[in-house]
Amino acid sequence: MNTVTEIFGSMVFNDSVMRERLPKDVFRQVQRSMNEGRRLDSAAAAVVANAMKDWAIEKGATHFTHWFQPMTGITAEKHDSFLAPVGGGKVIMEFSGKELIQGEPDASSFPSGGLRATFEARGYTTWDPTSYAFIKDGVLCIPTAFCSYGGEALDKKTPLLRSMEAIQREGLRVLKLFGNEDVHYVKTTVGPEQEYFLIDQGVYERRKDLIYTGRTLFGARPPKGQELDDHYFGAIKPRVREFMQDLDEELWKLGVMAKTEHNEAAPAQHELAPVFTTTNIAADHNQLTMELMQRIARKHGMVCLLHEKPFAGVNGSGKHNNWSITTDTGVNVFEPGETPAENAQFLLFLCAVIQAVDDYQDLMRICVASAGNDHRLGAAEAPPAIVSIFLGDELNAILDAIEKGAPYGSREKELFKVGVHVLPKFPKDTTDRNRTSPFAFTGNKFEFRMLGASQSISGPNVVLNTAVAESLRQYADRLEDAEDFDTALHDLIREVIRSHRRIIFNGNGYGEEWTREAERRGLSNYPSTPDCTPYYLAPKNVALFTRHRIYSEAELKARCEMKLDGYSKVLHIEALTMMDMLWKDILPAVSACTAELARAANEKKTLAGAVDVSYETRIVNELSNLTASAAIHGRALETAMEGLKNQHESLAVARYYRDRVFPAMQSLRAVVDEMELRCGAKYWPYPSYGEILFSVK
Ligand code: ADP
Ligand code: MG
Repeated sequence: MNTVTEIFGSMVFNDSVMRERLPKDVFRQVQRSMNEGRRLDSAAAAVVANAMKDWAIEKGATHFTHWFQPMTGITAEKHDSFLAPVGGGKVIMEFSGKELIQGEPDASSFPSGGLRATFEARGYTTWDPTSYAFIKDGVLCIPTAFCSYGGEALDKKTPLLRSMEAIQREGLRVLKLFGNEDVHYVKTTVGPEQEYFLIDQGVYERRKDLIYTGRTLFGARPPKGQELDDHYFGAIKPRVREFMQDLDEELWKLGVMAKTEHNEAAPAQHELAPVFTTTNIAADHNQLTMELMQRIARKHGMVCLLHEKPFAGVNGSGKHNNWSITTDTGVNVFEPGETPAENAQFLLFLCAVIQAVDDYQDLMRICVASAGNDHRLGAAEAPPAIVSIFLGDELNAILDAIEKGAPYGSREKELFKVGVHVLPKFPKDTTDRNRTSPFAFTGNKFEFRMLGASQSISGPNVVLNTAVAESLRQYADRLEDAEDFDTALHDLIREVIRSHRRIIFNGNGYGEEWTREAERRGLSNYPSTPDCTPYYLAPKNVALFTRHRIYSEAELKARCEMKLDGYSKVLHIEALTMMDMLWKDILPAVSACTAELARAANEKKTLAGAVDVSYETRIVNELSNLTASAAIHGRALETAMEGLKNQHESLAVARYYRDRVFPAMQSLRAVVDEMELRCGAKYWPYPSYGEILFSVK
């Protein structure tokens, strides 16, 4: 086996490959277009395309694809070979600059929320030179954005790139105020921690619900779950170990810095964290990670579940989005500094985040909303649906001192003044981090913990980048005009703390009291996707996104539609799957079980009239009552589904699913799970929770 350093990035057309293979001036042009978003001229594009093709062919590639991220949340590709005929029955391998820069997949079936009428259904893809091309399965993949002919974003990458521009613009303005003349680029960085389940493929194939919906729709509690906490950080089983090694190697080849892997809280649950990188690259890499996890699991006879809540009563899977802002000079603005000036800058950026999260709580909730994630948020295992920020006691005390103009700490005699005083060093606390907080400051970055395991990280980072860019814009406007910078800065920071303090919460986010306290503070609490999604179009949110040119109003409307529509479709498929399982498998199986018991009781009685058949009689009775009840609940679910024909608008439909269909599914499940506990194992048509969760030996 090759060494890790040899493997790493071996399938990526990265800087070192480009430096080696491109003429100097073209290489410089590519660098400029990567850093400044400038368009490559067509002559240079032709040179890059040709070099890419030669490199790819040497690595065994025969095809290329524009690799993009439509609104489905997964990636899309359509392979074209490099083949071009040259007459005489011969071919050459060709790849033009035009093919590199722009593609036109016949992609009319991707969701667009009504942005494309079918007559102009063709979207086009454009090269994103900020993310390296790579080879996957013999195909040269070119990361691209996907837009309509009108220029509307039809994907997850375009708005993310736009939000990176907003942070670059406004971040730079603020940094200049602090005299950072040497800074040219400001970027956000992300390290997403990815949770997932691994189960045996044989077991998976026998569960229709997992196959059709990614989660179990029925399933009685197993005798043992996660209560002993014996899986968390436990020894990794050999089969899982092999999977992880394989996965790491494949990710490394693609330049993804997979770093830590460990077992998570639930049985069969694991986590992978990469080293952080620029946000749009982190987004591409996370998509690749999810794709490879699923593929490589199959190679090892397992299935990787990325659903947010595959099993009731067992922790679900999330994704922690560790986020920060850094400069091209290597400064992380959330790293408290050594000098009063550095600390003042740190405090202003901290304020920008506090204000952003408070002003756009609704967007923070919306960007993680989905049918799957609704099962987690607020369920006392994941952050609550209420958005708040955890800062920790030290930082909180400093903000208090600034707000009240009070001395800080015992040693400090004077009043704490921003820009004059050095912040006391607050230790990077790794022990008592508040795990219940949806958005926590963790020493030099923020950890946004509400994301669902299966979701693209693009949407949440669009919201974070844009909302923080907006705070920074306001601060720059105000401070650029200030006569006395230090005083203006001090006043500004104090004002922000005062007006946005309500979003800071260092207590237990799972507690009942927090829900009441949050209500007193006027924080929003939207338990479900249909609850929060309409706020996408609140005037302040439209103003935010249009001001920073992230989404037009039409694009926002489309995204709102797609989110609601996606929610309803998921519930639709789940309800149909439940009915299929109920009528075709479960009820016939339980009937067979009762019939067998009844027969056994009768035969016993024939043999010896006075024999005790109370066990058979009792179970036959119980199961018969339960089957009758399940049939009634199944019918009720069908009736609820029939009621959908009277609902037309996407919001009304989504609400109907939430209020009528989902509760009917829940009651049906309760009865069926009760049956599973009483039904003989050989009759029950599906592997039990115990068999699934402990299926990987
Ligand atoms: P933890 O103690 O939470 O495990 P780690 O330092 O291991 O903290 O980081 C968790 C994740 O946060 C990793 O993916 C890591 O790369 C990422 N991370 C660390 N620093 C930053 C940063 N400045 N910006 C974005 N992500 C970061
Ligand atoms: Mg973490």
